[in-house]
Amino acid sequence: MRITLLGTGAALPDPDRCQSSILITLDNGRHFLFDCGEGATRQMVRANVNPADVGWVFFTHLHYDHICGFPFFVLTSWIFNRSGSPKVFGPRGTRHYVDHLFEEGAFRIDILARSQYALRRKNLEAVRPEVSELSPGPVYQDEHVRVTADWVEHIPRDICECFGVRIEAEGKVIAFSGDTAPCESMVTLARNADLLIHECTFPQSFIEHRRKSGVGTFAHTSPGELGELASRASAKSLVATHFGHFDSTSPVLKRAAGAHLPVDLMGPERLDEIARDIRKNYSGPVRLARDLMRIDL
Ligand SMILES: [Zn+2]
Ligand SMILES: [Zn+2]
Repeated sequence: MRITLLGTGAALPDPDRCQSSILITLDNGRHFLFDCGEGATRQMVRANVNPADVGWVFFTHLHYDHICGFPFFVLTSWIFNRSGSPKVFGPRGTRHYVDHLFEEGAFRIDILARSQYALRRKNLEAVRPEVSELSPGPVYQDEHVRVTADWVEHIPRDICECFGVRIEAEGKVIAFSGDTAPCESMVTLARNADLLIHECTFPQSFIEHRRKSGVGTFAHTSPGELGELASRASAKSLVATHFGHFDSTSPVLKRAAGAHLPVDLMGPERLDEIARDIRKNYSGPVRLARDLMRIDL
């Protein structure tokens, strides 16, 4: 199978990183999309994947950097002649989100206008996603793949459940954290995984700065904590992702992010800090994600 990291950034509009999105493509050609942040669809096209061929989507949680590319994904797949409805899995609230987007929601007029053409009326199921809201446990299974989810620790659960996942396919195991602080459920999901893809939103130097300035970062995983978690899970290899723009050199981002980030510390050298701190606690192979990174397993 191949794993394509479509988007590896976090909430800000980063010129070098799209928002969170990972595409897993099995050898039989089936695609599984995990999160659909801004830029996901364009990145699929860059990765030579037709969005209309991606019919299975999982939202780890409902922060906008994980879901706001979804309407564009659905609408362009409709225009690209998707047949059938995309299947969407996510936490409680996913149905509400999806119901407010298409024929009865924000894009009602667009859909009405385009469906004046017979060709567009033919595949209106493409804008009628089939939504399943999840509980911890098995999410999906067929003869090729099994997906299991569990709660992780990111947003208070009464506001939004947040999921990490374990994907078993072709004799391999991939675990993906979504956004989370280090937690036992993620260790379990990642147990002996061939590949653990885990968030690592801020380097330690940023966390210290943010702690002093009173901006909380406790719902994410630091590089040191990530190394420890990967070791405890006996993950065979690790990709750190969901980078909070700490490596950006964009002057716009630096000016705009002043309230959130220690902008003087921003720059590509922070990636060295991240790698060093992960490796203090984890001796397996480590990759730092960048957009369109492809991993063949
Ligand atoms: Zn996020
Ligand atoms: Zn989040």
